[in-house]
This record gives sequence, structure tokens and C-alpha cells, in this order.
Amino acid sequence: MSDRTRFDLTQEQLPTAWFNLMPAIAGSGIQALPPLHPGTLEPVTPDLLSALFPESLIMQEVSTDEWIDIPGGVLDVYRLWRPSPLHRAARLEQALGTPARIYFKYEGVSPAGSHKPNTAVAQAYYNKEAGTKRIATETGAGQWGSALSMACKFFGIDCQVFMVKASYEQKPYRRIFMETFGAEVIPSPSATTQAGKAVLEAHPDSTGSLGIAISEAVEVAATSGGAVRYSLGSVLNHVLLHQTVIGLEAKAQMELAGDVPDVVIGCVGGGSNYAGLAYPFMADRLRGVTPNMRFLATEPAACPTLTRGEFRYDFADTGKMTPLMPMYTLGHGFVPAPVHAGGLRYHGDSPSLSLLVKHGHMQAAAYTQNAVFEAALRFAHTEGIVPAPESAHAVKGAIDEAIAAREAGEERVILFGLSGHGNFDMQAYDDYLNGRLPEVEFREEDVAESMAGVPEVPLPG
Ligand SMILES: *Cc1c(COP(=O)(O)O)cnc(C)c1O
Repeated sequence: MSDRTRFDLTQEQLPTAWFNLMPAIAGSGIQALPPLHPGTLEPVTPDLLSALFPESLIMQEVSTDEWIDIPGGVLDVYRLWRPSPLHRAARLEQALGTPARIYFKYEGVSPAGSHKPNTAVAQAYYNKEAGTKRIATETGAGQWGSALSMACKFFGIDCQVFMVKASYEQKPYRRIFMETFGAEVIPSPSATTQAGKAVLEAHPDSTGSLGIAISEAVEVAATSGGAVRYSLGSVLNHVLLHQTVIGLEAKAQMELAGDVPDVVIGCVGGGSNYAGLAYPFMADRLRGVTPNMRFLATEPAACPTLTRGEFRYDFADTGKMTPLMPMYTLGHGFVPAPVHAGGLRYHGDSPSLSLLVKHGHMQAAAYTQNAVFEAALRFAHTEGIVPAPESAHAVKGAIDEAIAAREAGEERVILFGLSGHGNFDMQAYDDYLNGRLPEVEFREEDVAESMAGVPEVPLPG
């Protein structure tokens, strides 16, 4: 093993097609469940989605093709920062005294500082092709809004962003970043939509949630008579698909490093960055090439969807405007504590990722904020990157794995996704450094209450 700590691809090695895991999931005997119309409980037909999304993205949403070509117009923008680097965290390994080799794929090199532009650029491109003039969306921590604002500016589309109020107040620089790219940013819940008004009437002090902000943005698009489209930054198949450039690059880079991961780790809000990294590797597990490769999804204890939720049909938003999605959920009415990892405060998760957890191909772990920031500082002190609070959950997972390897005296190979940098998250670090983060972040009663609101829809099988 050499002393190399960075494994780069040339621009010519940028992937030219996205990878779709659905055929491999089907091939492994797992039956994917369709989203359902909440009224009829029949599988949703593509035309129901066409009020919100352009045809090309709907086709990707339901595609059974394994590879989908990346358009030249998208590749041209990807080349601004892709391929992104794969690092070996040698200094972290040393500090931990672990025999494990720790690699991380770093998406913080994108202009918006996270993996989100990988799909924002693709979605803006396809909307432009379809003649879209204006897009409404939500943002949790502000990462998605930043990415979509930039992508919309590149393709000449207006962008309206409903930003979860807790983040709007904690992260003014994210708002200003979006405004710099010409977006209109509204704190959610807002009085500009019926969905927002309903929440404010019941809870005037609501700090918002992704579920509420989604309702507001969907309402704007659905009631616009086709003038406004909606765009989602996670959860849906086409979003996960666009993120697979991460894992395709990482696979080639791990080959350069001469290692195969024993475990692939990522943080999960809706599942897009982790699926993007993991799915090209997961295909090999599902096909029996690497049946013992492990996968670990990490999440906040304040919003423990995969570890404490139930696999059910539920709404993707609080206002019950979306189709019913088969996924792990804490209930669409669940409003998590306003933890700093705003991008992970989502009551549900991607259906495909949920399915992999349900069938035992993926494990999950939940961590409290103080443990997560402790890991983030360990990482920053050795590798020099201050991670986004979301990404720090993956760091925590990787450090725990490396310590377990030390205790077992095993040379494990750990690969984790560092989905973004935390340079806009200094308030979060300030709160941690000054001991202002509460340890209790989750109440059983709240989940029981929100789970009671999940519709009773039988799961097949
Ligand atoms: C949005 C975000 C996440 C969570 O979203 P996923 O769809 O689960 O990836 C994680 N990390 C960062 C840096 C984010 O901005």
C-alpha cells in the first residue's frame, strides 16, 4: 500500500451514464411496491405526476433500464467540479490507532458545497428542455435550495424556495447564497399557501419541517395551471439516479486505490447522497459478487426514520398532497426537534432504500447531535475539512467502524460519503462548542401520535 491519500479521475473519466439499481433489486427477487393514489389506492399513473414534473423525469422515475445516458448539457456543468475526489483519511486512521483503511468520497467540492447539484443540474436541464419557466421547491438546511438556485440560473429558470423556518433563522448565509443566484426565499410555514396557513393556525410558533415545506412548494406548482413545476431534492427514484455519479466514480477510484470496501457508510435524510454512493456497490451485493459487503445508513436520533420508524404506505408531505409512498416513516405529521442537521429532518425515506433495509441488505444507526459533532471535530482536526452536520453522521459511523476494527484487530476497508462541507454551519459548531446542544431530542409519544395519523393501507405479501 502506498502513501497516496487522494485518488483522482481525469475529466475524461467522468461517467457518461447514470446507474439504475431497480433492475438489480428486481433480479434479486425483491418486489418493488408502486406509489399509490391516496384516493383510489391504485398505483399512480404517470399523468398524475405530469402536473408537477416534466415527462423526461417521470420516465426516469419509472425506468427499468439499467443505464441512462447523461445529456451533454448536464455533463458540461458537471465538469465544473466533477469527478470529485476520493481521499484516504490516513491522518484520521493514525489518530484512531486503527488497522482499518478509511476512504471518503468528498462532494463538498461542488460550487454549492454538497452533492445536491448532481441532481439540481439534471432537473433544471430537463425542465429547460420541456419549456419550464419557473420552479418551486423546498429546502431544509438550505443545501438543496442553494444547488437548485444555481442550476436554475445556469438554465435561465426562475426559482422559488420554501425554506424550513428553523434553518431560515439559523442559516442566513444560505438564504443569501440562494438570493445571490436570483432565487426568491420564503420561510416555511408561510402564509402564502393554504398548507402553510393550516400549520400556522394550529401551531403559530412552528419551526417548520421538510414535510411542511414540501406541501407548500407542491401546492404552488399544483395550483399554477402548469405555469410552475415542482422539484424535489431527494427521495424519488430519478433523484437517486442522478446521484449515482458519486458511486460510479468512487468504484473506479477504489480500484485505483487497490481496495474493495468491506462497509459503505453514508448519512440519510431522504437517501439521495447515500444511495448515490452505495447503489453501484449494492448491485454487486445483490448479484452475489460481493455478498458480504456491508452497508450502513446513519441518521439523527431526533429523526430516526430507519431505526425507529415503520415500513408503511405514507404521504411524502405533511399536507397530504403527494401520492402514498412505501417507505420507512415516522408519520407525515412528525415534526422533528430543530437539530442542526436540517437536511436529515425528514419523516420518511426513499422507497428503494427503505426496501433494502427491510430486506436486510442495509443496516441503520442513529446518533445524537453531541456524539455527531464530537466525531466531526475529530475529523476536522485530522483531515482539515469541517463537515456539514448531515455528513458528520457518516463520519461518526465511519469512526465507530474503525474503532470496532481496532478492537477486533481487523484490517477493514471503510468507505464513507462526505456529502458536504459545513462552512455555512458555523452556528451549529458554535452551539456545540459552547455546550448548547440538548441531549434529549426525541419523544416516543410524538412518534406514537404521528404514526396514528398514517393511513391504514395494507402492504402486499
Ligand atoms: C440534503 C443533504 C443531506 C441529506 O439528503 P439525502 O437526500 O439523504 O442525501 C445530506 N448531506 C448534505 C450535505 C445535504 O445537503
